[in-house]
Amino acid sequence: MRTSDQRHEIMRKRVASWARRLNVQPRQVRVQRMTRKWGSCSTTGIITLAADLADQDSGFQDFVIVHELLHLRIPNHGKLFKALLAAHVPTTQRTSTKRPTATNASAVKR
Ligand SMILES: [Zn+2]
Repeated sequence: MRTSDQRHEIMRKRVASWARRLNVQPRQVRVQRMTRKWGSCSTTGIITLAADLADQDSGFQDFVIVHELLHLRIPNHGKLFKALLAAHVPTTQRTSTKRPTATNASAVKR
């Protein structure tokens, strides 16, 4: 089991390296417990990531991080946003960072 310090460290390093690649500068990066989403981006440039994202596979971590960082440049989920997301994280088909609800999760299992 990772400690929460290790998780924060992992997430911050990953965010920092992606921020360099995407040429964006988040004002602040927060790592905290989140139940409804994996990440969020405020209009003031604060990126928040779920602490347990550190336990997900690295491709999914990249998807959530790139998704939120791209919002610093593009506030919506329009064509340009999706094109950039696909260019940087080509392995994912996802566009949303919402976590599955209890109902969705049981639907997936079936
Ligand atoms: Zn988004």
